[in-house]
This record gives sequence, structure tokens and C-alpha cells, in this order.
Amino acid sequence: MTQSFDLVVIGAGIHGAGIAQAAVARGLSVLVLEQAGVASGTSSRSSKLIHGGLRYLESRQFSLVRECLQERALLLKLAAGLVELKPFYIPVYRDTARRPWLLYAGLSLYRMLGDGSPAMRFRRVPQRDWKSLDGLDTTGLEAVFQYYDAQTDDTALTNAVMRSAQSLGAQLKTSAIFTGALLGDPSNIIEYSHDGKCETCRGAVLVNAAGPWVKEVLSRIAPAPPQLGIELVQGTHILLPGKLTQGIYYVEAADRRVVFVMPWKGNTLVGTTEFIFRGNPADVAPLPHEVAYLTETLCRYFPRYRTGAPLLNVIAGLRVLPRGNATEGWEGSLHARSRETVLQVDRSERSGRSRLLTVYGGKLTTYRLTAERVMARLTDALPVRAPLADTRYLELT
Ligand SMILES: Cc1cc2nc3c(=O)[nH]c(=O)nc-3n(C[C@H](O)[C@H](O)[C@H](O)COP(=O)(O)OP(=O)(O)OC[C@H]3O[C@@H](n4cnc5c(N)ncnc54)[C@H](O)[C@@H]3O)c2cc1C
Repeated sequence: MTQSFDLVVIGAGIHGAGIAQAAVARGLSVLVLEQAGVASGTSSRSSKLIHGGLRYLESRQFSLVRECLQERALLLKLAAGLVELKPFYIPVYRDTARRPWLLYAGLSLYRMLGDGSPAMRFRRVPQRDWKSLDGLDTTGLEAVFQYYDAQTDDTALTNAVMRSAQSLGAQLKTSAIFTGALLGDPSNIIEYSHDGKCETCRGAVLVNAAGPWVKEVLSRIAPAPPQLGIELVQGTHILLPGKLTQGIYYVEAADRRVVFVMPWKGNTLVGTTEFIFRGNPADVAPLPHEVAYLTETLCRYFPRYRTGAPLLNVIAGLRVLPRGNATEGWEGSLHARSRETVLQVDRSERSGRSRLLTVYGGKLTTYRLTAERVMARLTDALPVRAPLADTRYLELT
């Protein structure tokens, strides 16, 4: 007999895991289909920051920053072993475009958008302490600001959210490739191949949380749902030997973009880049000019790398961003495009009932909030059941 679920979720990245958790917390039945493994897509290739996103203030994404800071505060409590508050350092040199007054203003605004806790404090690091900053180049250095944000292990966090969902009853199938769906009333018919076998199930609502594969999944659904204009933007990180002991460095690359230099499992992780990607998301790979850009930026700030260091790893991931226009300059560049998560609901023409929800873009930091919003958008289509939990209080281990 065909199994039926309230919700069938495609993708076990942070969004699929978060949506499954929020749904089972409401007592709903959930199946998650994942073509590879949990966090095998973008959710293991991020900069691993649970952050307000100081740089989003430049593109005036104030509500996004406020939400990210709220979720950061919550995750520091719920996932204490997985999300850790870290000092961040912003060096300002004679030739740095963002001047000290601008950083002071930005950090003051960042603090105002936060919860007023000690985690929102910032300061100017006195010159006498600059030599303790992991060998940061002090030639031409005019000021260093220190503030706080959080770091996580994205793969571990995604797995923890998925385990939490499973502990409340969500079913997860890995090596399960979604192959097609027929949208209908009162439920959708969903087909997938699992360990090479074709299987079918029914779901009152289908959730497309396939990250960079979002369009590919939509193309397999009938009747064809509406689609938003998006672009896939690749971001690369490089991993080099060398331990940073003080925290994370927020530095400006030659093109004014922000690059993070971070401690990562006893080594140093540097990222990221932004280049339009066209092709199959499974084929994303670091490009030589991205590696050169990140290496040059690292050497500019940390002279000990100027004599060369072996690359331990190079990782590329894909963001889903709203499509831009070809005439944009720096201000309208990829860097400045909205990082808001967009939810698109497809309704039955006959009954008006929601039957498909697609998640575009988003952040690791705001996955829980996104999942709650997904639930709020689907109330018309999902049954009301006795809740089992509330994601605001579910600890992640
Ligand atoms: C370089 C980079 C750095 C980033 N840094 C940060 C950061 O520091 N902090 C932050 O908050 N955010 C960051 N982000 C954003 C964040 O990482 C992403 O928004 C988030 O991981 C996306 O998760 P997702 O679940 O939507 O997608 P994914 O993690 O890609 O998950 C989608 C899943 O769907 C599966 N799938 C696809 N097609 C099918 C199919 N047909 N059948 C079954 N399964 C399928 C895939 O295998 C995949 O596992 C960064 C993003 C990038 C690219």
C-alpha cells in the first residue's frame, strides 16, 4: 500500500532538516528524501558562521541582520556544544576602504539590532595588543576593532537538527532521489528512486528544499509550478596549515569584498568568493582564480603565508540568489544582493489549497525561523495535531 505523509520534504540540508523538525514538533507525519547524505550539499560547504551578518548592513538588510542576531542568540543556548561565540577582529589599514568611523558606526548599529547582551559588545583593540593577533601584518595598520559572532560545524549542526527531527518521528531516506510528482487534491503523488528501486508515496504537501537543485526539482513536477528567477553563485574556501589562537579575522580583499580568515580544526580556513555558476550543481568545483584570490588576500594580511603553504583542502559550494541585472556595478553586485529566504507556495486551482512549497536561498543561521515560516504558510493544507515540542526549546546535541 502507498504510504501517506502530511509533509514530504526533498533535501536533507539545513532547510530540509529544519522543516522536518518544525513539522514533527507539530505532530505531523514527515518523510525526508535525500539523494545523497545529510548535509551533502551547500550545508557542509558554508563559512560555518552563525552570525548577524555585519556586512549585510552595507546593503541595508536591517531586518535580516536583526533576525540573524535573534537566531544566533537562540542557537547559542540550544546548541551550546555546536555553536560557539568567537571574537572577530577587523583590521583597518591606511588603504582599507572601510574607514574606522564607518566600522564604528556599523558595529554600533549591529549592537543596536542585537539583544543588548554582552555578546553584542565591541571595542577598539589597543595598539600594544596588536602583536598578539596571530601574526597580523601591522605595517600601515591604523586600528583594529573586535566584536563577537559565532562559529559552528555546519555538517554537525545539520545532522543534529535531523537527529532531533527523527527523534520526534520524522522518517529519513538517504540515497533516495526525487524523480517526479503529480500535484493533486487532496494529496500529491511523489515518486523517487531508493537504492535503485522506484518507490511512490503520497504527501498532502511537498516541500522543495533542494538548495541549488531547486529548479531541477521543480522541472520534475506536474502541472509545472511557477518559478522565480534565480542565479547560482559559487563560493570557495581554502584550508591551509597554521593555527589561529585569537579568533576570526574579517579582512577586506583587493576588490573591497569581505573575506574571513578562521580557525578550523587546528588549521586556517579562508573564504569566500562569489562567481556566477552555470551547470549541474553536482559539478561545482573550485576555480584556480578563486584559489589565487583567497591566497593573495591571506598573504596580504598574514605575512607568514607569503613564503607559500600547502593547500590542505579546497571546497566550493553554491548559494541560491535572486537574479540580478547585467548592468550592475559594485553596489548592485552579487555581494549586495538580498540574502533573504524566499518561500513560494503553489496552490491547487480547484480548491486553493497549498500543495507545494519551494525554499529559495537562505542562511544556515536562520534555518529554524525559515522552518517556522514554512509551517505558518502551510496551515491551510496541513491537519492540526497535538504538538510534541516547540523548536524554540528543542536542544541540539
Ligand atoms: C560559500 C557559502 C558560504 C556560506 N556561509 C554561510 C555562513 O557562514 N552562515 C550562514 O548562515 N549561511 C551561509 N551560507 C548559506 C547556507 O550555507 C545555505 O543557505 C544553506 O546551507 C542552504 O541549505 P539548503 O538546505 O537550502 O541546501 P543544501 O544544503 O544544498 O541541501 C539541499 C539538499 O537537497 C538534496 N537534493 C537535491 N536534489 C534532490 C533530489 N532530486 N532528490 C533528493 N534530494 C535532493 C541535495 O543532495 C542536498 O543535500 C553560505 C553559503 C555558501 C554557498
